Amino acid sequence: TLTEIAHPVSVALDAKGTDALPQASGRPDQFFDNDGQITKRPIRALTLSALAPLPGEHLWDIGGGSGSIAIEWLLAHPRTEATSVEINPERAARIRTNAANLGVDRLTVVTGAAPEALEGLAQPDAVFIGGGVSEGMLQTVWQNMPQGARLVANAVTLEAEVLLANWHSAHGGELLRIELAHANPLGRKRGWKSSYPIVQWSVIK
Ligand code: SAH
Repeated sequence: TLTEIAHPVSVALDAKGTDALPQASGRPDQFFDNDGQITKRPIRALTLSALAPLPGEHLWDIGGGSGSIAIEWLLAHPRTEATSVEINPERAARIRTNAANLGVDRLTVVTGAAPEALEGLAQPDAVFIGGGVSEGMLQTVWQNMPQGARLVANAVTLEAEVLLANWHSAHGGELLRIELAHANPLGRKRGWKSSYPIVQWSVIK
């Protein structure tokens, strides 16, 4: 079955239906159908590196968006498991389609708002918060994570950044600020176009 194929290159087509699926995390964004709410390729590569999937482990992907984080977690090893929680039903449906298109039919998708929607899920080995970060969310997630589980949270707003800075101060871990710029046309030449900085907090409970 597809779940037993470690690298389902033959069934994995990008949006144009042409290219083979690379094996490293941080795959091109166009492999994941999306409405713009997607963790972009370089940030996704750093996020998967911080999440550090191991065989047999279960990920909670909170604020699934396109599902790209959970899908890359599942592509890391055929024995990984993942649950994506997404509040927006259209996006939740898209996560299912993306997972099926990329050959990972073992992704569980929960349509609902975290933290309430986390109730009853199998315990995680790692948690990613990519959307809806709040004090209440962090508290509920932290309480429900087993000792030794890993938490990675990305913030793009100042408000979310403040929360992560406070939690880093209280619980330690690593706080990383990621500032990227892409070369862009500037008149007849080129200039660096900066993306919003991302603040990423990674911690082991
Ligand atoms: N990591 C995703 C992008 C996340 S964008 C990807 O790579 O595709 C943030 C997402 O979080 C949005 O889709 C938004 O609908 C969702 N979201 C926001 N608050 C939420 C909440 N409380 N519970 C679940 N999903 C939430």
